[in-house]
Amino acid sequence: MKTRMDELLNGASRIAVCGHLRPDGDCIGSTLGLRAYVQAIRPDIRADVWLDPFPESYQILPGADQVNTGDPSVRPDILFVMDCSDPNRIGRGRDLCEKAGKVICIDHHMTNGGFADENIIYPDYSSACEVLYTLLDEGRMNRDAAACLYTGIASDTGVFQYASVTEDTMRRAGKLISFGIDFPKILTETCFEVRFTHQKLMALALERMEIMPDGRGVVSWISQEDYKRLHSSVMETDGIVEQMRCTRGIDYSVLFYETEPGTYKISFRSRGATNVGEAARLLGGGGHKLAAGASLTGMDYEQMKQRVESVIRQAGEQKSAAAKEQGERR
Ligand code: 5GP
Ligand code: MN
Repeated sequence: MKTRMDELLNGASRIAVCGHLRPDGDCIGSTLGLRAYVQAIRPDIRADVWLDPFPESYQILPGADQVNTGDPSVRPDILFVMDCSDPNRIGRGRDLCEKAGKVICIDHHMTNGGFADENIIYPDYSSACEVLYTLLDEGRMNRDAAACLYTGIASDTGVFQYASVTEDTMRRAGKLISFGIDFPKILTETCFEVRFTHQKLMALALERMEIMPDGRGVVSWISQEDYKRLHSSVMETDGIVEQMRCTRGIDYSVLFYETEPGTYKISFRSRGATNVGEAARLLGGGGHKLAAGASLTGMDYEQMKQRVESVIRQAGEQKSAAAKEQGERR
């Protein structure tokens, strides 16, 4: 069956694929998945992936050992930007935007403003991998591509637990399993297993966790000093903010972690009542309603906490103002 991807690839002989800063499972899965699919259906097209360094657990994915990390000097006919809502957040390969004949973005972030020449953005979809799936032909899918797409969907849905999962998501994941992928190994190694040092970092963040003044959220922090002391790194912050959100009775979690001296990345997670995407946007970041992020520089922990408290309140006020307006119109 001819699909949207066949149309997109029409006339191309060289494509490049890249993702976002600090690549996660969906970013890695969608970039490697697209490459594996294109290599199989269009061996005449040269397809290369550029990504920032990513967690070693994803090395089990087919093609992970062929990711370029250097500066690209090629001029691809098409650059595919996967899972990235903001041109400033494109990781390795960002220079290709100027060099490529055409930039195509495949994404699912509601904050994506459509920066590419062609934007395929489904904000209701669980993952960029699921958006990509709908552009491909199930009949020409192969096991390597299936393993990558399954990984991305599982990763961005917290292993199929979030409300972003639909009947179609499960049907697509089921179809991907039918290609004979070793999904128990994929889930164990990419979603659950972590290194000893990672466990210790998580323990530290949980030990430091406090309840926010509004009583609805929890907050914690990790500094560069902590990574050093625990022989850990910023790559091992994954999963901590999700674990914090598992606290009974709270709606949202906030983790500050120092990425460069004096600069803290903020990760937000919500169970639904707090629109953390909006809160992050007010800080110059972005993301989804339930998972979002931003950065702050030159503030101490108390100042960052106050700033976050204020944007969460503002995001809530906007929501109640919108609800009130709706009510008045009725
Ligand atoms: P994480 O907490 O896993 O780093 O990010 C959660 C979500 O928020 C991801 O979907 C990511 O794309 C988005 N996000 C995180 N940080 C930023 C940021 O600084 N800017 C924007 N626009 N989105 C972000
Ligand atoms: Mn994603």
